[in-house]
Amino acid sequence: MSEYVASLMAEVKAKNPAEPEFHQAVEEVAESLALVLDRHPEYRHNKILERILEPERVVMFRVPWQDDQGEIHINRGYRIEMNSAIGPYKGGLRFHPSVTLGVLKFLAFEQVFKNSLTTLPMGGGKGGSDFDPKGKSDNEVMRFCQSFMSELFRHIGCDTDVPAGDIGVGGREIGYLFGQYKRLRNEFTGVLTGKGLNWGGSLIRPEATGYGCVYFCQEMLATRGETLEGKTCLVSGSGNVAQYTVEKLLHFGAKPVTLSDSDGYIYDEHGIDRERLDFVLDLKNVRRARITEYAERFSTAVYTPLDPKADHNPLWDHKADCAFPSATQNEISGKDAANLLRNGVYVVGEGANMPTSVEGVNQFVDAGILFGPGKAANAGGVATSGLEMAQNSMRYGWTREEVDNRLQMIMKSIHACCVERAERFGTPGNYVNGANIGGFLKVADAMIDQGLV
Ligand code: NAP
Repeated sequence: MSEYVASLMAEVKAKNPAEPEFHQAVEEVAESLALVLDRHPEYRHNKILERILEPERVVMFRVPWQDDQGEIHINRGYRIEMNSAIGPYKGGLRFHPSVTLGVLKFLAFEQVFKNSLTTLPMGGGKGGSDFDPKGKSDNEVMRFCQSFMSELFRHIGCDTDVPAGDIGVGGREIGYLFGQYKRLRNEFTGVLTGKGLNWGGSLIRPEATGYGCVYFCQEMLATRGETLEGKTCLVSGSGNVAQYTVEKLLHFGAKPVTLSDSDGYIYDEHGIDRERLDFVLDLKNVRRARITEYAERFSTAVYTPLDPKADHNPLWDHKADCAFPSATQNEISGKDAANLLRNGVYVVGEGANMPTSVEGVNQFVDAGILFGPGKAANAGGVATSGLEMAQNSMRYGWTREEVDNRLQMIMKSIHACCVERAERFGTPGNYVNGANIGGFLKVADAMIDQGLV
């Protein structure tokens, strides 16, 4: 670690105690940017990195709601408005019991760089709550969303801050949030993305993160003259990102063999084909049930419950070519990364945000595999949210093909940007540096142009 990064990190830790995920995200970016700051003293002089680390605004609020039995619950709501140098704040809302200020700050920080990479004019933000939608009735989820929006509506707007979905926030939640915003503001605007198709949503938005991640991996493989055809793929999670990653892998002739949720994972040696994926879509999006049912339905699949005391996740210990972590942060430990490499995995596309621990990332980079970091690989979701915003502004909708073509072009350009920046700063093939530097330069230049604000 350079002296500059060490002293920056000491300050970040002292100023933001008990936020380990935020420290981890900052350190990874700072390591990459040390290469840039040495060549560009203007960024250091203007304290650009120090300013990017500090959210422009943090909103934290009480969210009271009543369950179906009439009992009162109090959750905490947040919105981190991290950086608006290149556009309105943009980033998802996460509803999960593990949500803390530090988790959302890491996500908002990453979002700034990711959004910049998309080529679209979007700043970075993130928000959510420690509310757990699991096991709640639709009415309970609706009451929670209405209470959450009754405070959030003051802080967002289609030219100010445009939230979207993330873990625990899908089409149902966006609908309830949008309905309450519209009622409070008396306006129908594109204030949220991920909306339903018949009320302002974009075609391909639900699919975009998973599809985009697979497109990104195709681009990485193309640099070695290869494709995804015939490749065995490990996928974690079974939510939005995982589902459409599997769909696009099937489209390219790959063979996905795993899926998981927070209770355990299934390994299906037959491969998760179209029929089995349809079963998962119904299981997770309609019945909202657990992945263990997959193994009850298909005899070629084996279910393994998660062991919270284990030092590794057996999902990452199968023979495969590619891995698509699509559940949550730090789901690939150092030991998991070693297992993946030992099992022959040489393509990793991070569908989730920061799913690989620092030790894991270092092993992937040192091994010289095709490692697509989340900021780049999963940027297709927010990019298509940007396309939804564009369609809302025009009051017009593009066809499925038009949106998908734009998504593919954006993923190609993010890939090209990563490759070029990594090379320009002396670390060819290092997509981590390429993504961090590529995302940073545009925001940094905009911040200098706009003065000390
Ligand atoms: P989702 O639809 O809610 O699905 C999340 C999946 O991950 C579920 O299968 C969930 O299992 C599992 N999971 C969540 N927390 C977990 C934990 N602590 N341990 C083990 N499994 C866990 O969410 P999503 O939209 O697919 O998001 C997944 C990841 O992609 C997140 O890192 C998110 O930030 C990232 N991402 C999403 C988008 C997007 O457009 N949605 C865009 C970019 C990045 P349970 O159901 O059991 O909790």
